[in-house]
Amino acid sequence: MPELPEVETVRRGLEPWLAGARIERVRLNRKDLRFPFPEAFAATLEGQTITGVGRRAKYLLFNLSNGWTWLSHLGMTGSYRFAERTYKDSSRYYEPAVDEKHDHVVLELTHPAEGPLTLIYTDARRFGFMDLFRDESASPYLAGLGPEPLSNAFNAEEMAERFASKKAPIKAALLDQRVVAGLGNIYVSEALHRAHILPTRPAGTLVLKTGKASKRLDDLADGVRKVLNEAIEAGGSTLRDFRGADGGSGYFQHHFAVYDREGEPCPTPGCNGVIQRIVQSGRSTFFCPVCQK
Ligand SMILES: [Zn+2]
Repeated sequence: MPELPEVETVRRGLEPWLAGARIERVRLNRKDLRFPFPEAFAATLEGQTITGVGRRAKYLLFNLSNGWTWLSHLGMTGSYRFAERTYKDSSRYYEPAVDEKHDHVVLELTHPAEGPLTLIYTDARRFGFMDLFRDESASPYLAGLGPEPLSNAFNAEEMAERFASKKAPIKAALLDQRVVAGLGNIYVSEALHRAHILPTRPAGTLVLKTGKASKRLDDLADGVRKVLNEAIEAGGSTLRDFRGADGGSGYFQHHFAVYDREGEPCPTPGCNGVIQRIVQSGRSTFFCPVCQK
């Protein structure tokens, strides 16, 4: 499943091609993805200019000139790509992809500098979905989300307020979308390792008696930002091939210190621990029992 860094990589890859582009036609090849497309979806997009491509948690947000925002969640296998185009008598021609049966949404666009573009949304398993909203607070997907982990609103003091006297394991507390938005299972394991915090530690023990954040909670906020930024940077190197290629960009496995590394030596300098896997709330947690406390 694409996590926040993958979605941000997709956003950065799409933005230069979409910002300023006019949506000429929208073709929906089915009535639904995970959920039905909202009413008048295509009609709301057609004729509009995309004014910007944003992201909130794991949602891509395409801002339209009519004030609506088109929201897209990639689910497990959703991806965007631009069609390989050929020109016939200087008219636009859509070349179907090999797996056309999974091409669910096709947009014909005109970019002010690039000219005609065909954007295709492919999703083999159809866990992705799309929605429309005018006001972010009215979106059931966005209302109630906590701060973006890469924004200044996410910090140790903010976490301390949430975690004070909480007995829940820190890993579960960090997966709570009201605490921090869009942080998934993989990067929680990575951030806890980076901050040398045991995933089973009760969240409240990282808060001082005064209610302030401990140094360890500071390290955790820092760890979250660092693992996400490094993953985004790693993803950025694949951007050159974005156009005409699979925009899903996959996972940045080689950068994981603990995730999916059970039985391997801990990469912390000077630590001779071995990565272990446990299951918390039905999901795998990877950690080092020596340097994480
Ligand atoms: Zn270790």
